[in-house]
Amino acid sequence: DYKATIIDGKAIAQAIRSEIAVEARQLSQKYGKVPGLAVVIIGNRKDSQSYVAMKRKACAEVGIRSFDVNLPEEVPESELISKVHELNENPDVHGILVQLPLPKHINEEKVLGEISLEKDVDGFHPLNIGKLAMKGREPLFQPCTPKGCLELLSRSGVSIKGKNAVVVGRSNIVGLPVSLLLLKADATVSIVHSRTPDPERLVREADIVIAAAGQARMIKGSWIKPGAAVIDVGTNAVDDPTKKSGYRLVGDVDFEEASKVAGWITPVPGGVGPMTVAMLLRNTLDGAKRVIEK
Ligand code: NDP
Repeated sequence: DYKATIIDGKAIAQAIRSEIAVEARQLSQKYGKVPGLAVVIIGNRKDSQSYVAMKRKACAEVGIRSFDVNLPEEVPESELISKVHELNENPDVHGILVQLPLPKHINEEKVLGEISLEKDVDGFHPLNIGKLAMKGREPLFQPCTPKGCLELLSRSGVSIKGKNAVVVGRSNIVGLPVSLLLLKADATVSIVHSRTPDPERLVREADIVIAAAGQARMIKGSWIKPGAAVIDVGTNAVDDPTKKSGYRLVGDVDFEEASKVAGWITPVPGGVGPMTVAMLLRNTLDGAKRVIEK
């Protein structure tokens, strides 16, 4: 028996996808135009391929047209950049996503900086991140996984204003932007990273914990403040001989322990994961609306 409310990310993501489908249909009825998302994938990394397949399916379900661009592992950087420019110019494309990680010979910073701001549905363009970091400014798009974390909190009735929030991790794609979003939402934010001497002390103070370190079960139940809201972004494969695959996924939080103490907690899988795709669809629809309704 758990004390915490288990936040069902799958159900929440599904509800959001239904909302998006309705809005996309209204948009096409009114203007005869369909939102479009281009996904650029380089090489044949299996994990990237399966994410992309998932995104394509999700787009189809909500009435977003997907444009797939597959480039070989050896593609020259200049060719990738001209592809991005081509998509920037294509009026049927409202969102562009370049699947990371990129092969070593390609400069990620350079490529992401070439995506048109108006189509940066991943929200990774430095100008979008910069605006996210500034008081009184709003980015055109918020990064998907961080936005998904805040959406899980708000749809679970967890208020952020004035709360102590701890983010474990400071990566460009999760930790840093989620800290900025929490700050914008008026939390008092601490950021824990690999050089933080005593992460437990900070986590114990937190009303809201966002775990994004990529360290299996590093956050113990005893670290959690009773009643806190715990959002576990971590997705770590651990050996499990009882599974056909030989592994299973666990979060950065010890779910068994923490769910006895927390007020709310997300499971892994089935928490933040499904939200990332839902937020990508949301950003694509919002980007399309901005252009089409203008
Ligand atoms: P990164 O490896 O890029 O960043 C990890 C961050 O955690 C770094 O800032 C690092 O600190 C910090 N860190 C690592 N070890 C510790 C430690 N022992 N104590 C405190 N801080 C630590 O990972 P990502 O941000 O890309 O991803 C984080 C996790 O989230 C992963 O498990 C990933 O699989 C998952 N993920 C899930 C998504 C989803 O569900 N949709 C989407 C994206 C990621 P430092 O900066 O000092 O190195």
